[in-house]
Amino acid sequence: MVESASKPDAVPGQGSRDRPGRTLDPLDLFDIRSELSEEEILVQDTVARFVDDQVLPIIRECFEQHRFPRELVSEIAALGLLGSSIEGYDCAGLNSVAYGLICQELERGDSGLRSFVSVQSSLVMYPIHSFGSEAQKQRWLPAMARGEAIGCFGLTEAHGGSDPASMKTHAKRQGGDWVLNGSKMWITNGTIADVAVVWAHTDEGIKGFLVERGMPGFAAPEIDNKMSLRASVTAALFFDNVRLPEASVLPGVTGLRGPLSCLTQARYGISWGPIGSAQACLRELLAYTGSRKLFGSPLTHKQLIQVRLADMARRISTAQLLALRLGRLKDAGRLHPTQVSLAKWNNVRMALDIARDCRDMLGGGGISAEYVPVRHMLNLESVITYEGTESVHQLVVGKELTGVSAF
Ligand code: FAD
Repeated sequence: MVESASKPDAVPGQGSRDRPGRTLDPLDLFDIRSELSEEEILVQDTVARFVDDQVLPIIRECFEQHRFPRELVSEIAALGLLGSSIEGYDCAGLNSVAYGLICQELERGDSGLRSFVSVQSSLVMYPIHSFGSEAQKQRWLPAMARGEAIGCFGLTEAHGGSDPASMKTHAKRQGGDWVLNGSKMWITNGTIADVAVVWAHTDEGIKGFLVERGMPGFAAPEIDNKMSLRASVTAALFFDNVRLPEASVLPGVTGLRGPLSCLTQARYGISWGPIGSAQACLRELLAYTGSRKLFGSPLTHKQLIQVRLADMARRISTAQLLALRLGRLKDAGRLHPTQVSLAKWNNVRMALDIARDCRDMLGGGGISAEYVPVRHMLNLESVITYEGTESVHQLVVGKELTGVSAF
């Protein structure tokens, strides 16, 4: 669980305010940190230290080897980062801003690690907590909080993830059981999951089922050849007459509202996460452009370079303010899904553009994983696609503005 807070200026991985000619933290120009509570600062610092000490030393190799760093799960759990917003069931009961900061700091390390925590917390523990029976909660939530059980979330199907209502996976009642058939695609944590929250059509509407690893007829092969999120597990799920007892159904929800409410939780965290990716890229670029001499002076002395760096700071600052406002609205119980859509769209686009621009400013070296931008850039290609593509979020906002659904 979180430990003692450090001085604000000594946050690992954050910009320093002590450099000559600068009075502001380049990675926090609007002093968002001063808006945080003591507990939120404590959480951010603790996760930042974990990322600096345990993630950054290994993550490049994990990405290159296409390997999820499973050895970090027990420490992530010990820090209280799994299901951190849930009260009880051995969870930390932190507020939404703290959850956002967790996502931001983890994604400063790698989007793959943040994806693991997002799925476990927002897409598996959240629906079990919100829609599960007491027996389901007791069985899964404490074990998942301790990292002893891992979950995945099966909604997307191969024929069109943006249109979940078109899903073909279905479950039929047979005696006292359900029989599940179909498949899911692009499922984070799929091969390592002990339990999958699977959404399927039934005669009574869309329902969520808890499908356990090893059940006859259930297979979860890994998807190979990924050029993005290589430090994360992505799988397909296949269900061939999987027989499930009634106790496997999430009793508290029927219809698309179930999976969509989970997505709102996860998208909220994703609105924060890419701020960390962008900060990691800008931080490296500030150091690089300060030392790279071309045409007689460091790159930082060139107006065009300064414009590009300033533009990154503008976009990061905007994203930070948006994320914090979103978090405060969520904690006040006033969050609207359209606000989450706009923030996810803006903040992921911001980070992807910054990562690409940083990659370019590193010249040839920018294509090497020795620098962080190309890894973040490749990861963010997934982040801008999953949890609703950019177009899907634009259409959500468009619908809010016009009252017309243009999907
Ligand atoms: P499609 O829906 O086929 O979209 C293709 C293109 O069409 C996109 O550009 C899209 O923006 C555009 N488009 C769609 N609808 C419209 C429209 N009405 N008008 C105009 N353009 C439109 N899913 C899960 O359920 N669980 C997971 O854990 C999970 N993890 C993932 C991990 C990774 C690494 C990736 C890449 C994906 C993951 N996904 C997961 C799936 C992800 O949510 C889907 O890929 C995403 O929703 C898009 O669906 P799709 O890939 O089928 O693309």
